[in-house]
Amino acid sequence: MSEPTSSRPSVSRAALGASLDQLLQPGQFKDYGPNGLQVEGRPTVRKLVSGVTASRAFIEAAIAEQADALLVHHGLFWRGQDGRVTGWMKQRLALLLQHDINLFAYHLPLDAHPTLGNNAQLAQRLGVQLYDDARGRFGEQSLGFMGERACASAAALAEHVAERLGRAVTLVAEPDRPLTRVALCTGGAQGYFEAAIAAGAEVFITGEISEPQAHYARECGVAYIACGHHASERYGAPAVGAQVAAELGLEHVFIDIPNPA
Ligand SMILES: [Zn+2]
Repeated sequence: MSEPTSSRPSVSRAALGASLDQLLQPGQFKDYGPNGLQVEGRPTVRKLVSGVTASRAFIEAAIAEQADALLVHHGLFWRGQDGRVTGWMKQRLALLLQHDINLFAYHLPLDAHPTLGNNAQLAQRLGVQLYDDARGRFGEQSLGFMGERACASAAALAEHVAERLGRAVTLVAEPDRPLTRVALCTGGAQGYFEAAIAAGAEVFITGEISEPQAHYARECGVAYIACGHHASERYGAPAVGAQVAAELGLEHVFIDIPNPA
């Protein structure tokens, strides 16, 4: 028989928000949307569910898990939205409000945390040893991470990344060139490629690639690996969720809603 919900430890919504803010320091970032509590739910939290994106499928799965609060990398609100609560936005919000669930979202702060963030967690998963000095960061808001992994060839590294993430990757490189110096920036960070090149990277790993980066890779001799926006950002939210839940004595579960992008 499972423990009745009411006997599990709980914390206030405010205490959970304070712990997340304390860990992720959202005030240090200029971001594309609000970080922290995006949708207010019940005042008391026992179960935290983490995920990559506050999609309808994720919210429905979290409801089935009896979540009191959600922690995601991609929340509901972004700069440039037209602000209407219609269509998919209405559906997602209605589910959250009907079930009185709190939605916490942290975007750049969740990429950037030095050990639990998306970048650090991806580096760990790929066996990239991050530099722990000034060489370890590059690019706007220091969101690019740099480290080393000795790779016999760019093709071998691409194969390693594909194996570790469980999906196909896109490689633009001279396939046989050996390399060591690895730059990475999770998600849609194709815009960081030139900063990675300037910082001395031999390969850049991110989620996505756009047309210009294929040419830069060929012309600059720096390898480019696009391993999927979702796949590259799957590890920060569960790491942060587990840490904060352990600190506060909450139940925590990560739900992955697969995404081919
Ligand atoms: Zn992202």
